[in-house]
Amino acid sequence: MLALRPLTALKGVGPKQLEKLHKLGLFVVQDLLFHLPLRYQDKTHLTPIDNLYAGAELLVEGEVFAHTLTSTRAGRRNSLLVKLIAPSGATLTLRFFHFHPAQAKQFSRGKVVRVFGEVRLSANGFEMVHPSIEFINPNVPPALSNTLTPVYPTCEGLGQISLLKLMVQALAELNQNPLADLLPNPVLDTLELPSLNHALLTLHQPQPEDDLSLIKQFKHPAQQRLIIEELITHQVALQQLRQQEQTRFAPQLPASRLCNALLTSLPFELTQAQQRVLQQIQHDLAQPHPMQRLVQGDVGSGKTVVAALAAIQAADAGYQVAIMAPTEILAEQHLNAFSEWLNPLDIEVTWLNGRMKAAEKRFRLAQIESGDAKVVIGTHALFQDAVEFNRLGLVVIDEQHRFGVHQRLSLHQKGHRIVLEGAEDLENAAEVQEPQEAQEVPKNLNSSSATAGQFHHPHQLIMTATPIPRTLAMTAYGDLDLSVIDELPPGRKPIDTAVLSNTKRTEVMAHLVAKCAQGVQAYWVCPLIEESELLHAQAAEVTANYFIAHYPHLRVGLIHGRLKGEQKALVMNAFKAHQLDLLVATTVIEVGVNVPNASLMIIENAERLGLAQLHQLRGRVGRGDKQSHCVLLYQAPLSATAKARLNIMRQTNDGFIIAEEDLRIRGPGDVLGTHQTGTLHFRIADLRRDSQWVDAALHWAKYLVQTQSPAIEALQARWVGQKIDYQHA
Ligand code: ADP
Ligand code: MG
Repeated sequence: MLALRPLTALKGVGPKQLEKLHKLGLFVVQDLLFHLPLRYQDKTHLTPIDNLYAGAELLVEGEVFAHTLTSTRAGRRNSLLVKLIAPSGATLTLRFFHFHPAQAKQFSRGKVVRVFGEVRLSANGFEMVHPSIEFINPNVPPALSNTLTPVYPTCEGLGQISLLKLMVQALAELNQNPLADLLPNPVLDTLELPSLNHALLTLHQPQPEDDLSLIKQFKHPAQQRLIIEELITHQVALQQLRQQEQTRFAPQLPASRLCNALLTSLPFELTQAQQRVLQQIQHDLAQPHPMQRLVQGDVGSGKTVVAALAAIQAADAGYQVAIMAPTEILAEQHLNAFSEWLNPLDIEVTWLNGRMKAAEKRFRLAQIESGDAKVVIGTHALFQDAVEFNRLGLVVIDEQHRFGVHQRLSLHQKGHRIVLEGAEDLENAAEVQEPQEAQEVPKNLNSSSATAGQFHHPHQLIMTATPIPRTLAMTAYGDLDLSVIDELPPGRKPIDTAVLSNTKRTEVMAHLVAKCAQGVQAYWVCPLIEESELLHAQAAEVTANYFIAHYPHLRVGLIHGRLKGEQKALVMNAFKAHQLDLLVATTVIEVGVNVPNASLMIIENAERLGLAQLHQLRGRVGRGDKQSHCVLLYQAPLSATAKARLNIMRQTNDGFIIAEEDLRIRGPGDVLGTHQTGTLHFRIADLRRDSQWVDAALHWAKYLVQTQSPAIEALQARWVGQKIDYQHA
């Protein structure tokens, strides 16, 4: 196929240029066609100098009236000012900060130039800074372009003109050998969108009659045609993963009566949402294929108990359950909750942690290997050790959002099912932003156990407290079934949030102490201030010492990532038992910590934290029936984004609204926590802008997969190609 020839097949592509093109993700001729303009310049008509207006990019012709060298400020280099004049006397000034003396001389009075640039209004009237210029012979004016001029994304060392020259060749080929419309007819007919070739031509060479304002908003049918195709291609990959999973076998775990035993012993009833999600899980577990379910539920919505009920179903059927938490604090908390709930049902719960003595560890490993321990809790790092399960039936991954989506997908593609980055202790944001190398799923969790001649894969329950907007979730997690716990337990009062300047810090401290004297328990969170974890811990230490020195009656605990696991556990347990009034912490407490009596939280330097993290932190309070309060302290001056974030926090407690806003402010990659590891990368689609297409894309992706469409492979080559993407990561 012509379109799949290497770029060196085009004229003028040398090794240097090839390198740049590869940098842009362009390898074959077809890749150029899918390298779409960022925006367009309109050089199809001239605007008379009398009709200029500020803010627009315009093509203007005029006669040079004068040129001058000026120095605006002492010691600064000269600028070149060129005044163009219209017969009416209207003027336009061209301003050049960088120029050769010879260039200045070219602008002699009476010469006619054609310039293109953005018009600004300055003290001297209309002005263009560094326009592109062309001296012309007014008797033989050069023809105007009859299409809009595209501006392509490019990189240093590869100019628009070189790129355009290649595009012209690629488009000439396209005209001769149109690309196949890979989307089958039913898709094209239903969507009523233009053919692929028409769409590509329109976007690379829009005609003056094409609606440029639609193109600017990415709402033009030509763009929609490409967006839907790209989204469909992405969904197809996810659907294939899902299908592949459905050909695997898992143990069928029947509903268990022990679940009812736990339910009746609980001091509360499940919310409607918890019941609904539980039913979905129970149904999945009874199937002969591995469950692949993502449960989303806002902080405090009660995911743990739902996981415990799933664990009971597996254990009662004679299978083991592995529960992975992102931090040891959370693992220990789960150990406590699960033991309390499951031990009375004679289900043995055990755990592993990094600080266990060798003898204890051996004992626990033996318990797991023999199958005596039914529920095993630990961090991901621990499951990488030589843990041999006897009959693993269910894997629960808690707080999945702390692990990268990218990694999940990449390993997923290689046939691994549980994918996490090895981040045992997500102590601070720096660690999260710089994830370690993606590690493969602990083999022992992925390995199949043979029963009655069949290889069994464990069921998977993935839980996340980051409420991801639905369309984003469908796109990032389209290979999973989604459940949402969209209801908080009754009696929860919205957390009252105040935003205060750091200058009020000592007053806030005094207020906190007064509250603690009335029996309130509080968190004081010192987020990352310096890059170093050491300084981070020190900041918390300094604050804790301040409280201890000034308020001797206050019982103060300190927790940060540099403490040993044992010390952390001691402090957490003391806080839980209300032997401490105040817990000064780093963001180590962000994930999952559950102390329902704590009802006051102060977050320092809140302006440095993202919305998702603020929401997670704040979610540590408001877990009981007390009215909770949160104070966000900030250091002035606030950036506009920081101000917007803090305002949203003050206005709402709803994780979904916060997530939508986060998506709006930050973009999908960031919301999914993939910022540093490569975003969900699309060539033209943008999940914020194009969310209206996600449903249709899913629908048609299913259609393609179900009909085993031969187009699938070509679509993937076209859209994913050789780009570094999760298929190649
Ligand atoms: P998250 O979804 O953030 O993991 P948890 O599972 O830690 O939330 O639950 C938060 C608190 O709410 C726990 O103390 C839990 O026991 C309690 N809880 C869970 N479900 C209910 C319910 N239906 N009614 C009242 N309290 C509940
Ligand atoms: Mg939780």
